[in-house]
Amino acid sequence: MKLAWLSLILAAVVAACSTSSSVVDDVEARVDELLSQMTLEEKVAQMAGNGTMASPGGGLLWTAPGIERLGVPPLVMSDGPRGVTGAPGATTFPVGMARGASWQPEIEQRVGAAMGRELRAIEGNILLAPTINNLRHPSWGRSQETYGEDVQHLSRMAVAFVRGVQEYVLANPKHYAANSIEDTRFEVDVTVDERTLREVYLPHFRAAVREGGAASVMSAYNSVNGQFCGENEQLLKQILKTDWAFDGFVLSDWFFGTQSTLGSAMNGLDLEMPVAQVYGEALLSAVQDGDVPESVIDEAVRRMLRQKLQHQLDQPSDLDESVLASDEHLALAREAAVEGSVLLKNASSALPLDTSTLERIAVVGLLADTPNTGDSGSSSPHPSFVVTPLQGIEDAVGEQVAVDHIGKDVLGGEDLALIEAADAVIVVTGLTAEDEGESLVGAGDRVDLGLSAERVKLIRDAAAANGRTIVVLEGGSAITMGEWLTDIEALLMAWYPGQMGGHAIADLLFGDANPSGKLPITFPTGLDQLPPFDNESLEVTYGYFHGYRYLDRNDSTPEFPFGFGLSYTTFSVDNLRASQAEARAGDLVSFSVDVRNTGLVAGAEVVQLYVTYPGSAVERSERELKGFAKVALEPGETQTVEIAVPVNDLAYYDVAESAWALEGLEHEVHVGTSSRDLPLAATLSVAAERPVSVY
Ligand code: BGC
Repeated sequence: MKLAWLSLILAAVVAACSTSSSVVDDVEARVDELLSQMTLEEKVAQMAGNGTMASPGGGLLWTAPGIERLGVPPLVMSDGPRGVTGAPGATTFPVGMARGASWQPEIEQRVGAAMGRELRAIEGNILLAPTINNLRHPSWGRSQETYGEDVQHLSRMAVAFVRGVQEYVLANPKHYAANSIEDTRFEVDVTVDERTLREVYLPHFRAAVREGGAASVMSAYNSVNGQFCGENEQLLKQILKTDWAFDGFVLSDWFFGTQSTLGSAMNGLDLEMPVAQVYGEALLSAVQDGDVPESVIDEAVRRMLRQKLQHQLDQPSDLDESVLASDEHLALAREAAVEGSVLLKNASSALPLDTSTLERIAVVGLLADTPNTGDSGSSSPHPSFVVTPLQGIEDAVGEQVAVDHIGKDVLGGEDLALIEAADAVIVVTGLTAEDEGESLVGAGDRVDLGLSAERVKLIRDAAAANGRTIVVLEGGSAITMGEWLTDIEALLMAWYPGQMGGHAIADLLFGDANPSGKLPITFPTGLDQLPPFDNESLEVTYGYFHGYRYLDRNDSTPEFPFGFGLSYTTFSVDNLRASQAEARAGDLVSFSVDVRNTGLVAGAEVVQLYVTYPGSAVERSERELKGFAKVALEPGETQTVEIAVPVNDLAYYDVAESAWALEGLEHEVHVGTSSRDLPLAATLSVAAERPVSVY
């Protein structure tokens, strides 16, 4: 009987494999056929964008040509880290950083799918997202677009998003690589040693490509080790296309992302966007003059054709604009905002607010009733409405509680009197697109991580007038707090929470939902805790350490550590055990812990697993996140959470041998609920091995 089952399963597996390999063969055969029918001019034309077109709703989409006579579809692109920018009325989700703070790849996959669906509905076929640059420093103007500062966390979120998007259209992880200064993004040269590059700035791109199956990648504007990313031989040809066996295509970042015809063509840039500057006529002549072999053109075009066919971009879509901001997508935007908001302080259980015991609340600050969804640059969608915090709060309390709205940042005597008379005060403040964003089209980098003096005074004045002051903070990255943090009772980091953000904030303030977000970046006490950041630098060296790794190494205590976030309930984590005590290359070790909700309301906890390398022969981080899992629990409920760690993830990059290496060490495993709260420990003895595969 058992044998019969086994053979059935085997037959199914063989059938599945042969189907998928025959589909691949079919695609390759069709690509060969198409290539053989194209003229050189047609092929070269495939390699550069041809401008823009209007989406059905009048939005802006970028295009690269198809070939009508051969049925080759064009590429039609829209930005999308927080929503489809090319479709007016598309859903505006919380920014990437907020979604990173959810530590919920499962939700992120649904967010990716929703954006993919919306783009497909307006006949687009590449979403220019996700932004997955490792957040080296919170001053980066585009911090809000990425997921955080840790490679493992970034990888999990990126893979989820890419998979979701690619249920409908192609994804485009960007900006490859080491792009994390905004104001000099077109010129800055990043010097980074090989080990740092491989271990800190690239693994999440590798995951997006290898695990996520990303069909395309966008090269960055900056240069790395002296070569612009759009013509960087090591990044594009050696690492991406050879080491990682990427079979998709590389497109340049816009206008300033290409430098030279030969450099780009010979080093692996397949598509120049948004228009031909170094490609087009110049590339055609280079081929005709024998400077660029036609095989290089064929390879680039092959890569694009392959993805167009594999993802069936030549097939019409049966989606229409009714999916834009559909009820389902708006509910998802709200869910993502709830899951990603981080409760940073809650003295005397000031939150949640209980409407049955409140008569009057004051909602204070210019941002209370301001749509504030993030940067106004390329990632900025056009929602048909935004629920502000004030609207969300008014909606939640209805007639039950009187709301005094004081929509300004400078408070006068009357305002303070209202604040004093309130049962609780909610100050909504933080950053806006005027403080941080993309350079040229937005505000660029931040030079100071604090709030403006006016906003600090707003908080302090409100807190001085009323002991029950709660701050809802908006912004895309770390904000330093200083003394105002001690003045207030509670602090909710809402980031830029998207068009449903006001409802999500109210859900959390009034306890209809329980905060479960965790910081995906470190919140330092000041700039002096971080590596240097100079927004004017044209040359910068990226060291191995940043974020929590940097603070751990320097023994600095942050304001709030990586992985931190409070809840309205409490949790215990106990009983860490491993599926094995000894491991070798290729093993997948499963760690289990029992998580219990020890409080009175339902909630969710993010269990985090970090590894340390005592006695390592190379300099390592004091601890590194290697896995995490979010678990929702009813009061009193216990669940066993499993976190699987591929042993090869413990390898470091051995530069001398150009290989990933596992060290023969007793690795220490620490588990808990933030990078600075790790009560459980175990050891894992790993056998040395080199090379090991990390793909
Ligand atoms: C940005 C990219 C964006 C592109 C198209 C560039 O300036 O860096 O992230 O995808 O514009 O809007």
